[in-house]
Amino acid sequence: MTTNVPLVDLQAQYASIKPEVDAAIQRVLNHCGFIMGPEVQAFEEAFAAYCGTEQAVGVATGTAALHLALLACGVGPGDEVITTPFTFFASGEAISQTGARPVFVDIDPLTYNIDPQRIAAAITPRTKAIMPVHLYGQPAEMDAILDIARQHHLRVVEDAAQAHGAAYRGRRAGSLGDLACFSFYPSKNLGCYGDGGLVVGSDAELIGHVRKLRDHGRVSKYEHDELGWGYRLDALQAAILGVKLRYLDEWNAARRAHAERYDELFADTEVITPTALEHIQHIYHCYVIRTPRRDELIEHLKAEGVGVVIHYPLPLHLQPAYKGLGYRRGDFPISEACAREVLSLPLYPELTNEQQERVAESVKAFVG
Ligand SMILES: *Cc1c(COP(=O)(O)O)cnc(C)c1O
Repeated sequence: MTTNVPLVDLQAQYASIKPEVDAAIQRVLNHCGFIMGPEVQAFEEAFAAYCGTEQAVGVATGTAALHLALLACGVGPGDEVITTPFTFFASGEAISQTGARPVFVDIDPLTYNIDPQRIAAAITPRTKAIMPVHLYGQPAEMDAILDIARQHHLRVVEDAAQAHGAAYRGRRAGSLGDLACFSFYPSKNLGCYGDGGLVVGSDAELIGHVRKLRDHGRVSKYEHDELGWGYRLDALQAAILGVKLRYLDEWNAARRAHAERYDELFADTEVITPTALEHIQHIYHCYVIRTPRRDELIEHLKAEGVGVVIHYPLPLHLQPAYKGLGYRRGDFPISEACAREVLSLPLYPELTNEQQERVAESVKAFVG
C-alpha cells in the first residue's frame, strides 16, 4: 500500500517550526494586544525590507490589499483597469469592488502571464491602471508593462499574491509597480494560519493612503477624514508571519529544486513543463504542467492518490458573475486553452524525493 501525496502539506511545515510559532502566538496571548500593535508593525517593517520597498501595510486579505491599492491609485467608477483573465477571481473582483471595470488582455502562452504586446490595444481614455498578476510565482514581463504605463500615465498595481520572494531582473516582486499586493492565505509561499494580506510601496502618499483606508479612514482615534474599511491584519497572524518570513528564502529554494527535479523527470514525455525565463526568479507557488488530455489525467492521478488541482478552470471573462461585461467564449483563446489543459502537481518545500518520484511515475504511467 503506497501513501498518498497531497497537493500541499501545511502540517509538515508547522511541525518543522512549531516551537517558534507557538512561542510567537503565546506572546500575543500574554499581552492581549490583538488589534494592530507591535507584531503588526514589526512584520510590516520586515516585509518591506524583504521586498526592497520603503513601507508595507498589513491588511485582512490579499483581496483587501488589491482593493485598497487600487483605491489609493484613484481607481473608481467609470475607470478601467487592464488585467489578465487567467488568474484567481479576486484579481478581477478587486477592480470591480472599486466601481471600475476590468478590461482583460490575453496571456503569453509560455509564461501564462499577461502579454504586454496586447496591452496597448486595450487602452482607452478611461484606462487608469494596469494590474499584472505574477501567476504561479513567476513575475510578469514588468519592463514592457512599466514602459506602456509610463507612456500613457497609468498606475501599475502588482498582484503579487503568488510571488513572495520572486524576482525580476534582480528586483523583488513587490518593488516593481506603484503598489504591490500580497496574500498570506495559508497555502501561499508565505502563508499565515487564517486570512492575511499586505500592500507594499515606496510612494509615501500612495502607501499612506492605503494605511488610512485599511483602518476606517482614521487620522486619530476618533477622527476620520474619509470613509475607509475594517481591513486590518490581526496581531496573531502578524506574529506567525514574522516567524515564517525568516524561512521564506529557504522554502522558495526548496520549491525551485523540486521544480527542477520535476522538469528532469518529465524531460522525455509529452507533458509541457513550466517555462522559467533567464531574467526571472520563479518561486513556484504552483508547479503547472500542460497536456491536452488533462481531464483524464486528473482522474488517473486522483485514483493513484496524488493530490492535483486546476489553477484555473474558468477564465474571468467567462465567469457567470462577469456576464455583464459582455465578453464571449473565444475572446481570449490562449487563456481558454490553458484553462482546458493546465494542472498543478504537488509542490511544497517539505515534498520528499520519494513522493516526487511517485507523482512522476503516476503521470508517466498515463502519458507514456
Ligand atoms: C490568493 C490570491 C488572491 C487573493 O488573496 P486572498 O488572501 O485569498 O484574498 C488574489 N490574487 C491572486 C493571484 C491569488 O492567488
